[in-house]
Amino acid sequence: MPTGIVGEFLELKTETDADVLAMQCGDFYEFFADDAELVADELDLTVSQKSSHGSSYPMAGVPLTELTPYLRALVERGYRVAVADQYETDDGGHAREIVRVVTPGTLLETSDDDARYLATVVAGGDDDGRTGDETMSGEPVSGEGTQPIGVAFADVTTGRFLVTELDGWEDLRAELYRFDPAEVVPGPTLRNNDAFLETVREDLTGTLSVFDAEAFAPGRAAHAVRDQFGASIADSVGLDSQPATRAAGAALAYVDETGAGVLASMTRLTGYAAADHVELDATTQRNLELTETMRGETTGSLLEAIDHTVTAAGGRLLREWLTRPKRDREALERRLDAVDALAGATLERDRITTILEDAYDLERLAARTTSGSAGARALVSIRDTLGLLPELVDAVEETSLSTTPVADVLARPDYDGAQALREALEDALADDPPKTKTEGGLLCRGYDPELDELIERHEAAREWIDTLAEREKQAHGLTHVTVDRNKTDGYYIQVGKSVADEVPAHYREIKTLKNSKRFVTDELAEHEREVLRVEEARAELEYELFEALRERVAESATLVQDVGRALARLDALTSLATHAASEDWTRPTLTDSRELAVTAGRHPVVEQTTDFVPNDLRLDTDRGFLIVTGPNMSGKSTYMRQAALIQLLAQAGSFVPAREAHIGLVDGIYTRVGALDELAQGRSTFMVEMQELSNILHSATADSLVILDEVGRGTATYDGIAIAWAATEYLHNEVRARTLFATHYHELTALSDHLPRVANVHVAVDERDGDVTFLRTVRDGPTDRSYGVHVADLAGVPAPVVDRADHVLDRLREEKAIEARGGTADGETTQAVFDLSTGSFATGADDTRTGNGESTADTTDSETRASDDSAADSDDSTADSDVVDPAAQAVLEELTDLDLKETPPVELISLVDAWQDRVTENMETTHEG
Ligand code: ADP
Repeated sequence: MPTGIVGEFLELKTETDADVLAMQCGDFYEFFADDAELVADELDLTVSQKSSHGSSYPMAGVPLTELTPYLRALVERGYRVAVADQYETDDGGHAREIVRVVTPGTLLETSDDDARYLATVVAGGDDDGRTGDETMSGEPVSGEGTQPIGVAFADVTTGRFLVTELDGWEDLRAELYRFDPAEVVPGPTLRNNDAFLETVREDLTGTLSVFDAEAFAPGRAAHAVRDQFGASIADSVGLDSQPATRAAGAALAYVDETGAGVLASMTRLTGYAAADHVELDATTQRNLELTETMRGETTGSLLEAIDHTVTAAGGRLLREWLTRPKRDREALERRLDAVDALAGATLERDRITTILEDAYDLERLAARTTSGSAGARALVSIRDTLGLLPELVDAVEETSLSTTPVADVLARPDYDGAQALREALEDALADDPPKTKTEGGLLCRGYDPELDELIERHEAAREWIDTLAEREKQAHGLTHVTVDRNKTDGYYIQVGKSVADEVPAHYREIKTLKNSKRFVTDELAEHEREVLRVEEARAELEYELFEALRERVAESATLVQDVGRALARLDALTSLATHAASEDWTRPTLTDSRELAVTAGRHPVVEQTTDFVPNDLRLDTDRGFLIVTGPNMSGKSTYMRQAALIQLLAQAGSFVPAREAHIGLVDGIYTRVGALDELAQGRSTFMVEMQELSNILHSATADSLVILDEVGRGTATYDGIAIAWAATEYLHNEVRARTLFATHYHELTALSDHLPRVANVHVAVDERDGDVTFLRTVRDGPTDRSYGVHVADLAGVPAPVVDRADHVLDRLREEKAIEARGGTADGETTQAVFDLSTGSFATGADDTRTGNGESTADTTDSETRASDDSAADSDDSTADSDVVDPAAQAVLEELTDLDLKETPPVELISLVDAWQDRVTENMETTHEG
C-alpha cells in the first residue's frame, strides 16, 4: 500500500463505493491512479505522474473553482463521484474527508432542462428486506396474482417526489420507461433479480446503484417519510401501501446519504395511482414515438412536433402530459377549456408567451435555495420571475380570458405571499450582483443600516485612494503618477522613471520596475488598512445577510415552486393552444361511450412534412374491430398510429388534428408494430412479437384501444394466419377492445362475415397500366387483392417468377395442393406435390382434401414433365393418388398396429430392418416394370 498523498487517496477510496474520487489538495481537486486515467479519458485532462515513495502514479487535477463542470460531465456519463475536502487538523496539518457523493440521480447542477429522476423500486412481499422474491420472473406477468411493486421517483433539481404502487412487471417497465430515471436503486431482492436488471439495462439509459438494504426496511422507511413530509401528509396521499412507503423512504435516505443537502428541496409528496392515467406500456410509448423516434431521435417525435413552450418547466410539463395521459374526464375538460380559450385569443396568447419568455426555472431555483447552492444571481432570477406574476395576471384578468380556467391556473399560487417575497428580494438585492458570493456587492443600500455604514466607510476610504494620484500630482508637481493595488504590494503610488527622483522625502520606495518606481507613504498604508478592514467586514456581513436572505427564500420554497408550476402550466396550455390554432386542430368531444369517430383526421407528425390526405375513422360498439388492408407503403401504419395519437392527444387535454372527433375515453392504449429495434437488439423477433401480443391480450380491456400492425408475420404463413385469426376472435369476443388490425393476410378479411363487430377497411390505390398510385384514402371494405406479389413485380423480379407466384397464390387461396417444380441431378424436370393439409410433400399427388376430384397438376402445369425417378408417381400424366402400393400399405399397417412399449428394442430393430427390405424390394420391382 502506498503511503503519502496517494496512500491517503487510496485509503479514502476504500471508504466509498463511488466510481471515482476527487480529493482536495490545496487549490486543486486531484484524481490518482486508475481514477486519474478514467477521468483523463472521459474529460480530456492531462495525466502527469506523481512519485510517491519510490513508485509513480498517474495523477490528474482540476482547480477548486472548476470542479462543478467536471463533476457534472462525469456524473452525466453515469459515474458516481465522491468528493473529499481538505480541512486543517488541530496540530496544523491537513486531513481529508468525503463530504458528498454525487450520483446521476442526485446531481443538482445539470446541464439541461430535462427532469432528472432518481428511482427506487421495491418488490412487495419481501417484508424484512431479506427474503426471496418470487414475483418477478423473466416472463411477462399479468396483473393477477402478482405482488405489488413500490416505486418512488425523486427529481432533486425540481423537488418533485412521486410515489406509487404498481401491479406487476409490465407496469413497472412502463413506468420506468416513462420517467427514464438517471439512476435506479433497486430494493434488496430486486438487485439480484436478473429479469429486473435486464429490463433496466435494456430499456433505460440510467445507472444502477446499490444501496443499504436497511434503508428499505418498512419501519425505517416509514419513519423517513414522516420525517420529511410530516405524518399527516404521508397519510393523506394514500401512502398506505407498504412497498410504496419503502421505496419513498429509501429514496429519501439515498438522497440524504449523498450529502448534497438537497433533501430540503423535496417539499411535497405526490402519490398517484396507476389508474389515474392511461396505461401505456413501454413498447407503446416507444412505438408511438411520443418523445423520441424509434431510432432514438427527438426530431420526428410527437413532443417535438407540438412543443411551443418557451420555458424549461413548461417543456417538462408538456412532456409529462403526453407521456401520462389522463382518464379523468372533468380534469381533461378543464384543460381543454383553457386551451380553447387561449386558442381563440391570439393577442392575449402572444402577450402571455412574451412575458413567459423572461421567466426562469423557479422549480429548479427553489431546489437550489434549499440546498444552499443558490447565489445572488439565482435570487435575482427568482425575484424577477416572481415579478412576472402580476403582469401575467393582468394579461389574463383584463381580457376575455378572465372567466376561463386560464385565470384559475394563475389563481392557484399564493399571490400575496409571492409578491411579499419578491419585494423582500427587491429591497435586499443589488440590481446586478456579481456571480461570486464572497466579494461583496450582493446587497443594495438601505437594506441593513450596519451594512450601509460599512459601505459608506468603504467607499469613503476608496474615494480617498482613488483621488490620491491627482492630489499627489498637484501637491508635489509630479507627472506620471498612478495609484494601484496588487496582491503582493498592496496599494502603492507608481511614478514614472523620468520623475522618480523628484518624489518627496516621505515616499518610501518598495520596488523598481523597468520604466517606473513604486512607493508607499504612511498615510496610504493607513488608508489601505482601513480599506482592507472595511472590505472584509463588509463582505462578511454581506454574506451573512445574504445567507439569511437565501434561508428566507428557502423557507418559501413551496411557494416558489407553486408559482413555478403555475407558469409551467400556463406555458404548456399556451403551447397546446398555439399549435391548435396554427395547425387548424379541433377540440375533441370527449364521451363516455366506446367510440372513436374521427372525421378528416391527420397524423400530427406526418402532416407537418407531407401534403397529408385526411382520413375518416369510425370505431364504436357495433363496429369495434377494423381489419386494415392495403399494399405496402400505402399508409396503413400511418392511419393506425394516427388513431392512437389522436386518442392520446385528446386524453392529454389537447386539441386533435381532425375536422371533428368524438372520443370515448380509454383506460389504455396498446400497440404492437414492426420490429425494427428488436432486430437491432438481437432478440428473436417472433418471440418478442408474441410476448407483446400476449401482454396486450392479458392487459387490454373493453375500454382500451389496441393497434396491431401485423401479427404472425415472423413465422410460417399457416402459423401466422392461425395466430392472427385466433387473436382477432379473442379480442373481438372476450376482450372487446376497440381494435385496429393491419394485416397482409388477406384471408382475415373474411372474418367480417362471421364476427359481427369486425369490419374491413382498406387504403385505396389507383392501378393503371401496371402502375400503382397511392391514394392514401381509407375506404370501407377489404382490398380486392393482396399486393405482395405485385410489389415483387414492381421491384423487378423476373416475369416467370411473378407469374408463377401469382399461380401458387391462387392455388393456396383455393386450398389446393401445389406441386414443386424442380430439376433432378441429371437436369430433368421433376415434380413432387406439396400437400397443404399435411404441410409436407405427399406421395399422392392429388389434393384429396378438396374432394372435388380435380387433378393437382392442372392444365397450365401439363407442360412440366415429371420424370420416372420421382418419389411420387412414375407416370407423367400425374398420378391417381388412390393407387397405393400394396406392399408399402402392408408395412404401414404393421407399423401402425405395433405396440411400441411392449416390443423390446432388439425386436424393433429387426422389424424395421424387415420393413425396409420389403419396401425397397418393392420399389425396385416397380422400376423395372
Ligand atoms: P404501410 O403501413 O401501409 O406500409 P405507411 O403508413 O408506412 O404504409 O406509409 C407509407 C408512406 O406514406 C409514409 O411515408 C407516410 O408518410 C405516407 N403516408 C401515409 N399516409 C398518408 C396520408 N394520409 N397522406 C399523405 N401521406 C401519407
